[in-house]
Amino acid sequence: MNIHFSKGRSGKKVNKVVVHYNAGDLSIDGCYSVWQTREASAHYQVESGGRIGQLVWDSDTAWHASNWDVNCSSIGIEHANKADGTITEACLDAGAHLVAAVCKYFGLGRPQWLVNVFPHKYFAATSCPGQIYGSQKDAYIQRAQKWYDSMVGGAQAPSGGTSSKPSTPSTKYAIGQHVVFSTCYTSSTAPNSEAIAAANMARNHGTITRIVSGAKNPYLLDNGLCWVNDGDIRGFYNGSSSAMSARQFALEVWNEGKHGTGETREAEAKRLGVDPDEAQRLINILAAGGKI
Ligand SMILES: [Zn+2]
Repeated sequence: MNIHFSKGRSGKKVNKVVVHYNAGDLSIDGCYSVWQTREASAHYQVESGGRIGQLVWDSDTAWHASNWDVNCSSIGIEHANKADGTITEACLDAGAHLVAAVCKYFGLGRPQWLVNVFPHKYFAATSCPGQIYGSQKDAYIQRAQKWYDSMVGGAQAPSGGTSSKPSTPSTKYAIGQHVVFSTCYTSSTAPNSEAIAAANMARNHGTITRIVSGAKNPYLLDNGLCWVNDGDIRGFYNGSSSAMSARQFALEVWNEGKHGTGETREAEAKRLGVDPDEAQRLINILAAGGKI
């Protein structure tokens, strides 16, 4: 493309692939023509016959995700589609192969929906990418995983015919927990040398909204605030501004019988961003007839 993209990445790193469909059966040249007049572009177009064309360099920002930050940090892949919104087998195979190659090249890990591969509709009110994130959702990502596995040496190659659920290494913290951090990063892969002090952030706490298992900084906070790892997290947030306070939790347990007991209560506390030990300490005070 000569217009309708932005040079460079505005300092951002590529950390995801965004998948699109043409809402039509376009060729590579056809996309080029459409984007001459429409203020849009993507890095790649995959034709129905499986031919792939590059229209914007990976190092530049294509205009495809309806979101500037997402554009700066993603590779956009368009797919030609049939009238019913599905894509051909050749298009699926070539598109999935390209997704795997992009994930490998940028060190994003094994392709997974909503981890490192996103449908356009995740970021905007749109039907895009049609059946790629509908009836072909599983087939598409499984093919991408198969290609990825073959590229990285088959370490995680899915056994033939069975559905391939990637094993997810367990992480110390879980989605929904509200944590306080001392340092953080702009991406899941940023090295220690790029750590940002919490003092330089708008706030030093956030709720874990996504986990990229195995990544250096696996926890995404507040869907975009920043990324952190276990070493960055100081503990659970106990303020009253957004997470439930340990006091409120304890009062609900004691006065209203909510949140269960034992391990159930502990899990519920963590889910709500409450430090379970602090909550139990307060409950014990209430149980002893004290005030909190
Ligand atoms: Zn799209």
